[in-house]
Amino acid sequence: MTKVTGTTKLLGVIGHPVEHSLSPVMHNAALAALGLDYIYLPFPIAPENLQIAIAGFAAIGVTGFSVTIPHKQAIMPLLSEITPVAQAIGAVNTVTRQNQQWVGTNTDIEGFIDPLQTTYQQDWSQKIAVILGNGGAARAVVAGCYQLGFAEIHVVGRNEQRLREFRDSWGSSPIAEKLQVHTWHTLAKLIPQTHLLVNTTPIGMYPKVEDSPLSAAEMSDLPAGAIAYDLIYIPQPTKFLQQAEKQGAIVIDGLEMLVQQGAAALKIWLQTDAVPVDVMRQALRQHLGL
Ligand code: NAP
Repeated sequence: MTKVTGTTKLLGVIGHPVEHSLSPVMHNAALAALGLDYIYLPFPIAPENLQIAIAGFAAIGVTGFSVTIPHKQAIMPLLSEITPVAQAIGAVNTVTRQNQQWVGTNTDIEGFIDPLQTTYQQDWSQKIAVILGNGGAARAVVAGCYQLGFAEIHVVGRNEQRLREFRDSWGSSPIAEKLQVHTWHTLAKLIPQTHLLVNTTPIGMYPKVEDSPLSAAEMSDLPAGAIAYDLIYIPQPTKFLQQAEKQGAIVIDGLEMLVQQGAAALKIWLQTDAVPVDVMRQALRQHLGL
């Protein structure tokens, strides 16, 4: 446990609810390992109190904070500056104080692409990504796939209207040129040509661990050597990843994305690249009983 003194600086996470957040575990472990005089706390903030909370954070000199549901979009008009990455995704997950102003960014793209870049060095320019789900996390995954240079990015969802809104939300950005949206019926046609299959739906998340977004028959068409990436981190592996592994796919679970988006945030707050990623990963694994 960090020793709190009269000079301890404050970091934290805002959400509603925030009790489930794993960020305090990983960030406090990192801060303790670095021997820094910081503490990272959870702040449950109801939507109607967001503005006053941010003003209060400025008044008490908070160094920076993470943002989780339901504030990721609502916080944007309250910030002085939003990085192009966060603008592209349309959501902020990390806020920092710079020159007496709040600056918002989004580290989910970095979190998503890190395990792909470090483990599987590839040229993605001829590859096809298929993303299941069209919610908040899918936005970071689409932007990440664009950043990696995928030739085609296909998003598969269950609701035509929300899919249309998802597609239209990218406007005339270059991402829109590579993006196609489909209803679930098209999945069977897409799977045989997929190089990267990402689950961004909550299907298969604890406690419904026997569920998978794909039937065994659909998964059986995934080419051997494709990458299956599940954003879910409990259980490990998910049913989706078990099916994919049986098929000869390379599998990635959601824990590394969680660790890497946190590490990217800590680098911004502390203004250093030297953050103990291993300590953060280990603290999470221990906390989750993995
Ligand atoms: P979200 O905004 O609620 O989006 C969920 C998406 O899944 C929506 O498109 C939703 O479809 C779809 N969906 C939900 N249930 C479905 C079902 N039964 N069949 C088909 N589609 C379904 O949630 P999110 O913030 O994107 O998070 C999604 C998942 O990613 C969660 O499991 C979360 O824990 C995980 N996640 C992990 C990380 C990480 O660091 N590893 C980061 C972020 C999120 P509709 O639009 O039709 O409702």
